[in-house]
Parts: sequence; C-alpha cells; structure tokens
Amino acid sequence: MEKLPDNLAAALLPWYETAARDLPWRRDVTPYRVWVSEIMLQQTRIEAARSYFERFMAALPTVAHLAAAPEQTVLKLWEGLGYYSRARNLHRAAGIIMEKYGGQLPADEALLRALPGVGDYTAGAVASIAFGLPTPAVDGNVLRLCARLTCCPDSIGDGRVKAAFRQALAEQYPPGRCGAFTSALMELGETICLPGTPDCGACPLEKRCRAARTERPWDWPVTGSKKPRRIQQRTVFILEHQGRIALTQRPDKGLLAGLWEFPNTEGELDELAALCQADRWGCEPEGLEPCGRAVHIFTHLEWHMTGWRVRCARAPERFVWTDAAQRQTGYPIPSAFRAYRQLL
Ligand code: SF4
Repeated sequence: MEKLPDNLAAALLPWYETAARDLPWRRDVTPYRVWVSEIMLQQTRIEAARSYFERFMAALPTVAHLAAAPEQTVLKLWEGLGYYSRARNLHRAAGIIMEKYGGQLPADEALLRALPGVGDYTAGAVASIAFGLPTPAVDGNVLRLCARLTCCPDSIGDGRVKAAFRQALAEQYPPGRCGAFTSALMELGETICLPGTPDCGACPLEKRCRAARTERPWDWPVTGSKKPRRIQQRTVFILEHQGRIALTQRPDKGLLAGLWEFPNTEGELDELAALCQADRWGCEPEGLEPCGRAVHIFTHLEWHMTGWRVRCARAPERFVWTDAAQRQTGYPIPSAFRAYRQLL
C-alpha cells in the first residue's frame, strides 16, 4: 500500500475552518452530545439525524436523564431511525456510565470501546472530538478518502487495510487540533470526496491525491463483492375494531427486537388465506380490502410486503388495540411499516 501524503492536517484544517457545516452536535460540544450524535450517524444520513438529535437532546439532555428513562421512551425517540439496537445500547451504556464513571464519559479510547454499541470508529470519534486525543475515526467515508489519496489497490473491506490506514492517520494527528482533524476528514468524505462523483477541483487535498491525477478518481476504493440480500415475502394486517388498530410487540431478541408492529405473517397471502389467518387469531373478520404492497430493505434482508385491511367483529387480547394518539406517543413502530402506517 502506498503511504498517505504527509501532513494532511496542514491542508485540511484551514479548509475545514471555512467549510465546516453548522450541525447541531458541533454546537455546545460535550462528550455526551458527541457520543449520541456519533451513534445516531452510524447508519443515518446527516440530514435525517438533525431533527432526531435535537429532539433526543431536548428530552434526554444528560447521561443521567438517558439512564433513568424507560427503554420504551428511548425507542420512541428513535422511532423511524432504524437499527434500534443502537438505541438499546445507548441506554445500557448510559447505565454503565452512571454506575462506573459517575455520569461522565471516560476520556479513554479503550474504556469508550468497552461500552455497549461503541466500536473502533465511535470510540475514535468521541475520544478525539470530545477529549482531544489523537485517535482516528475510520468509517466508510474516511476509508474512501484514504484509498483515493493512495490509489490503494486492496479492498477496503479487508480489515488489514483499515487497520493500516488507521495507524497511518494516527501518526498525523496534530497536537491540540485532534478533534478538528477528525471532523475535517469526515467533512471532506461527506461533502467533497463523494462515492460516485468526487469534486476534486474543490478539494484541499487535490495536489496530494494520487487518484486525482488519474482520469477516473471514482474508481477507488476497490471493494470486495457483497452477498446478495435475502428476500422474504410477508403479509401485513391492518386489523380494525371499532376504530382501533391492532399492534403486537416483537420478541425481545433478533430483528427489530421489542418494537411494535402490525400483525404480520411470513408468505404472501391471498384474500381467502388472509381471512383465514385473521379468523385463526380470533378476530372474526367481517370483510377486507387490499392496502397495497411495500418493500423495506434491511442490511441483509428485504421484506416484500402485501397488506390487507380487515374489519374485525372481535378484538382478541393477544393484540393491543390502539387509537391514533397511542400510536403517536406510546408505541415505537419501525419504519419498515411506514407505508401501512401512512394509510391510517
Ligand atoms: S482530490 Fe478528489 S479523489 Fe482526491 S481526495 Fe480530493 S476529492 Fe477525493
């Protein structure tokens, strides 16, 4: 692997001072705010995370508030962001921070990494941005940037490549400006050195970048081939009894654990089969109408859903029968069901 260009900070930091976007977590920087924002941004776009972050901070402004909140409150604040294990881990980690560190996040990368939901990237980001330590935060954006700077021929999916870039970046951290250096690398990867269309003309590193000297800088990074996602057919039921809609809670473990959903089953059920299923649940169906198809994509799985809206004469206790206000405030419903929720 080619060496990273020397002294990246000298070119990056002056650029960052003028180009940095005004993001809520960059104001009033505290370890708690940095931590929550980094967890939120793990699988969420910045624009989508903004309003969630502000709502989360208004409701749970400190580690102590987060630790004391019921898990369902945390999940409700997370509703629609997906990857709910992030919210659960935040909540668990807050309890640990209260117990072991008196409510203050530890200023140590290894101790941060030991918290639930905190991996190398998040530990590096929090340690450098919140505590000024020389700890790189290497995510897909930073890997892409490094791969282009060096025209790296190896797949960035290879852990050894990632480790080598992390080590090379760690050696370049400028004393006293560690947080800004981490943020500048992220900012460049998110705004200029984009996956399909790097804007090399606007890049402060253009003169040092090997890919920019080629005709096709977007050919880097090299990636390994990905496994195709598994497709699962499901049938979703909007069961309605006297204006109330049935919800059920998912199991404690696995996909979307502990969240609430419209009753659904595996397979694509036609009208008759859907009526039979509603009957088996004890709903005494009086009629039904189709309510469309929807697709939801998880990391390794796609749900291809068919919906039926069923009028029920009975409201069996196996479900919770909710009104609109309860669904709005009380039950975290994942965005996988957004298409059906919008019908209500
Ligand atoms: S010069 Fe182009 S390819 Fe190189 S780091 Fe900058 S934006 Fe990315």
